[in-house]
Amino acid sequence: MPEKNVQELVRLITAKAKEYGADLAGVVSVDDLKRSPSHVIIEMPKFEVAGTKPVEGRKCGVVEWPGGARSAIVIAVAHPSEKPELDWWVTGSSAGNTAGNLMLMSVVSKLAEWLEKERKIRFFKLPYHIEHGTVYMKDTAALAGLGCIGENNLLLTPQYGPRQRLRVMLTDADLPTTGVPDFDLCTYYPMPCREACPQDAFAEKIHSKEEYGFAELPERSGVYSRVRCNQQMGINNADFEAIEIEGQKKPGKRVKYCRECELACPAGFG
Ligand code: SF4
Repeated sequence: MPEKNVQELVRLITAKAKEYGADLAGVVSVDDLKRSPSHVIIEMPKFEVAGTKPVEGRKCGVVEWPGGARSAIVIAVAHPSEKPELDWWVTGSSAGNTAGNLMLMSVVSKLAEWLEKERKIRFFKLPYHIEHGTVYMKDTAALAGLGCIGENNLLLTPQYGPRQRLRVMLTDADLPTTGVPDFDLCTYYPMPCREACPQDAFAEKIHSKEEYGFAELPERSGVYSRVRCNQQMGINNADFEAIEIEGQKKPGKRVKYCRECELACPAGFG
């Protein structure tokens, strides 16, 4: 496809994603994505939680790239502080989900249908968790130019700071990367995220650039402790609220996971 047409297709895809409910969208070629820090380093935490549990026949953290995948489309849905319910984990009649995740799933599903029907572009459905072989979503978003990795180990975008959630789909279309960000939002602020953490998850150096051989670590400055953050998740899980579920006698559960580092971040508040 001529260069001009490819660029137009990318513009059309990102516009469609936004029409279907995404707040941000971008594209990165699979070749570029495979060279990102998380995809090269592939080191999983040494404990078992959702996302890092052993799956028979799989090496946790290794992506299962579908044959024929040439580009990745990443979408983001904003989770503003004034809509905390988007992030609440609710279980009851179904296995559990968040309202924000349901929005992301809906955008992906509509975009996939449009790509296949209107553009004859094949899409590859990805599992959600790393343990099942999905791609690293923050690397995808950063490489697509949506934002940068912040000192709180989250993707920071100029529009929403760290307050968005991501989904990625792969396609067989040879699409160009939409851009690499040349900004660092953390340089403007004194890292209030680190003060806000109830578990002191940024207290110690865990990885070094020398150890990994990357100037840009997946966890940026190597101080984010998944173990400590996960301890907070355990506390939040135990602190669930019982909620009524329509048509059901047994109450459901609502869990409000910690977002202190996200909500303390001044980036994206305008
Ligand atoms: S989510 Fe909470 S516990 Fe985890 S790093 Fe952020 S502030 Fe700390």
